[in-house]
Amino acid sequence: MVSNDTSAWHAELAWVGGERMERDVLIEARNGRIVAVTPNSAPTADAQRLPGLTMPGLVNTHSHVFHRAIRGHSQSGVADFWAWRDLMYAVAARLNPETLYRLARATYAEMALSGITSVGEFHYLHHDDGGQRYTDPNELSHAVIQAAVDAGIRITLLDTCYLQGDVTGRPLAGVQRRFDDGSFQGWAERVDALRPSSPLARVGSAIHSVRAVPQPALRPMAEFAAVRDLPLHVHLSEQPAENQACMAYYNCTPTELLADAGVWSPRATAVHATHLTEADIAVLGESRTSISMCCTTERDLADGVGPAIRLRAAGSPLCVGSDAHMAIDLWEEGRAIELNERLVSGIRGHLSAPAIAAALTHSGAASIGWDAGRIQSGALADLVTVALDTPRTAGARSGDALAHVLFAATAADIHTVIVDGREIVRDGCHAGLPEIGRELEDAVAGALGRDRDPA
Ligand SMILES: [Zn+2]
Repeated sequence: MVSNDTSAWHAELAWVGGERMERDVLIEARNGRIVAVTPNSAPTADAQRLPGLTMPGLVNTHSHVFHRAIRGHSQSGVADFWAWRDLMYAVAARLNPETLYRLARATYAEMALSGITSVGEFHYLHHDDGGQRYTDPNELSHAVIQAAVDAGIRITLLDTCYLQGDVTGRPLAGVQRRFDDGSFQGWAERVDALRPSSPLARVGSAIHSVRAVPQPALRPMAEFAAVRDLPLHVHLSEQPAENQACMAYYNCTPTELLADAGVWSPRATAVHATHLTEADIAVLGESRTSISMCCTTERDLADGVGPAIRLRAAGSPLCVGSDAHMAIDLWEEGRAIELNERLVSGIRGHLSAPAIAAALTHSGAASIGWDAGRIQSGALADLVTVALDTPRTAGARSGDALAHVLFAATAADIHTVIVDGREIVRDGCHAGLPEIGRELEDAVAGALGRDRDPA
């Protein structure tokens, strides 16, 4: 789906980075990349009008796509993170390539409608329901990649290494055998064989957590990512129990264990980073490791509020993820970083509107390896336009439109989404998948092994 033609749009308002908001911006693209950005331009006959506020496409750096199936199933009788994980594992045990593809395509289409143009899929469901490799060991990875491409968005398949049940090396059992490549070498060989054919897809790497990957495999994973120039993501200190287990077994924090293995660097992203010491914050910041905040999931799972503002001050770029998809709305993920900090600190104004916008766009794109997230010549032509005449956004034109959108808009306010120079959403409708609600309903029912509820 690469564009081979020239496209042009005329944006009423555009956030073009930093503090700059421009009017009547002519944005021209060729072969999927922006080639010119001209503010204060007259409309041209061949430029598609973008009414409202146009920004770089939103980047969702942390997704477990199949978790979408349990939205609404986990709000009663599920006391903590670990009980929630059991519920999620019941879905993971059922999925096959077809049901995963359908669920992923519908969920990625939901993302497209919400303004997301790129997703980092933290993918650890590798093998069949008995833990055996498929004939093509990457069959489920291909299903997920194809789903994103068919939904029209970019994907970085963050192929995740998951080798043990806890820090002591407990063997994987039950559904976890679907995650298990047996060894670092088994994981590496499978990942090296994964070659997406679509220009919308690329491969990255991930360490599931210090629970799931033994210490001797950590440095080889960091070197694997460095040699191949891959993003490297890792779940970090989401729950106090993870820290306690790591301290008991290794006598250090997860951040320190991963630092000793050479994991932290500008190519690395720590996901959550909720329960950190001051020394951990300094290590992550000095290494310029990105931090993927997943606030709607962190509050849903009672994880706690991570030190995002202190991490940013220490040097770590912030980005966001919808993670378990309790909601798919990156406006909410972005403002929650600021609003959570207000609750914790009793002080307002930690992140400016442009700082939140950067987390949603170019910082996220850098985290998952795409040259996107900026409205400037040379960047990939991924754009989102927010309507400014909805009940939530009306009035934005008379004030700070960027701040208004970041603090009040929802996923439902998206007007146009452009990926690789092509419109995939127009007037809030997906160009290729017009009935996403019904597709989601069918796909969720399929993933849960149920008949679809009668209309
Ligand atoms: Zn996660």
